[in-house]
Amino acid sequence: MKIVRDVYLVGSGQIRLSNPMDCHIYLIDGGNELALVDAGVGLDTGLIIENIRNEGFDEKNVRYLLLTHTHADHAGGCKKLKRAIGCKIITSDIEGKMLESGSEEDLGLDVAKRSNIYPKDYIFEHCNVDQTVKDHDIIMVGKYSIRAIIVPGHSKGSVCYLLDQNGYRILFSSDVVFFGGTIGLGNWPGSSLEEYRKNIGKLSNLSIDALLPGHFIWTLKDGQAHLNKAVENLKLAWVPPAWQHQHPHF
Ligand SMILES: [Zn+2]
Repeated sequence: MKIVRDVYLVGSGQIRLSNPMDCHIYLIDGGNELALVDAGVGLDTGLIIENIRNEGFDEKNVRYLLLTHTHADHAGGCKKLKRAIGCKIITSDIEGKMLESGSEEDLGLDVAKRSNIYPKDYIFEHCNVDQTVKDHDIIMVGKYSIRAIIVPGHSKGSVCYLLDQNGYRILFSSDVVFFGGTIGLGNWPGSSLEEYRKNIGKLSNLSIDALLPGHFIWTLKDGQAHLNKAVENLKLAWVPPAWQHQHPHF
């Protein structure tokens, strides 16, 4: 489904566009080439490809998969997508290492299985990374340049991707900040309140219009207000509000 100009939702567990365990999976149309943001859990990759086709695109034009981080609901489908459509996987150095060879513990998967987020027999498929990004690196997708912003806190090397459409600014915020300014702080390896405190400032003053997170609802206007809320909460004395605990996935 189309979210905003040149951005589509092609996978989502929450609205049952794809496997129930999938995060939101976005497609960016750069004109002559496309990019995906995240891959989903990898159990219904065919549905994601079907959704790309149903929007009128050829999945073979997906040049990049911009991976935000290596939790299974975002990254478990990398290998299958890469094999099926030939896209190059891009992520931060830290997340890339985990995608290639992270143990279940590194990936937070043992905690997640214990928490009944994934079935006990779920197997994470490791996948080679084609390109790593550093903070503020630019990735060209057709007519668009997309900036990587690395914000550790939800995981060790979580990447947000900023797409500027001639002044209309879209942030793919993954699990770093959600609608309402809640954060993705959890009790798994790699998640850290201290890292959130150190890094959340990178999301200040970005003049974001559309905030497109990895889960829950998004907004097309005043996205920066939600980011500012997270920044402000992290200056207060208490552990800031994190996403709703009844949510079954991360
Ligand atoms: Zn996550």
